[in-house]
Amino acid sequence: MQPYKFPYEFETLPDNYSLIIYTKISSSYLFRCDGCNQLKSGIYIATHDGNYKLDIVCATLPSKIKHEAFEQPLVQVVASTRTYMFCDACGLRIGNNEVFFNSRAPWFTLHAHCAFRPHKLNHPWDSHALTLITPEDIIEDHPQDFNCEHCSDDIDANYWFYHCSLCDLSCHMKCINKLYRYSNINFNASGTQIEQQKLHEHGLTLVLSKRKRCCASCSRQVFYAPVFHCTTCNFIICPSCVLDVDASLFE
Ligand SMILES: [Zn+2]
Ligand SMILES: [Zn+2]
Ligand SMILES: [Zn+2]
Ligand SMILES: [Zn+2]
Ligand SMILES: [Zn+2]
Ligand SMILES: [Zn+2]
Repeated sequence: MQPYKFPYEFETLPDNYSLIIYTKISSSYLFRCDGCNQLKSGIYIATHDGNYKLDIVCATLPSKIKHEAFEQPLVQVVASTRTYMFCDACGLRIGNNEVFFNSRAPWFTLHAHCAFRPHKLNHPWDSHALTLITPEDIIEDHPQDFNCEHCSDDIDANYWFYHCSLCDLSCHMKCINKLYRYSNINFNASGTQIEQQKLHEHGLTLVLSKRKRCCASCSRQVFYAPVFHCTTCNFIICPSCVLDVDASLFE
């Protein structure tokens, strides 16, 4: 941990927060951000009791946004246990403590991470960029229902999804969120190497596993997920077998 000057955007934060920075792998290098419920790395703000953590993206979200898919401005809200709302982009429920954007008239709700998904994104299974499709977009002459390449389920076009019209490849927003949920983790950075003789004889580096592999310790399958990797013998071990990080974040 090292001293750090607060960026300008943090000046409005409640004073019971501190900024925590890990520049090297330690048991807390990976953490779950309460604002987006995703695994993040290295830098966060936390309440003094450490019970509530926000990564830099969630900590610096604007209080209001205007999204091209909706005519009204959307206001930032933090969900409580009483919040019973569903995201109009991915269709999933807004979880406790999650940051989301909402309009009450007419009703419209977006997870923060869904609101900031790009209009076009690259996908490992398609050589073209996929385009974000919202209910406003009409895809002409499409013969049948859309089907998700990841989970094989049909896509309800009332929700958002990604699509390549050249290959007719489609993917649920919720499945894209899953695929990209580790994209903000700082991989291959200096300091993401660990030496732990009891785990493995060589140094291990935190990388994103782009192939299906199994953890050498717990045998859990990892795909598009963070792993500690040995370049010498291609050994891998999952973060929850190395660090103090909840295995449920990788499900
Ligand atoms: Zn977050
Ligand atoms: Zn969502
Ligand atoms: Zn899917
Ligand atoms: Zn394509
Ligand atoms: Zn493991
Ligand atoms: Zn090795």
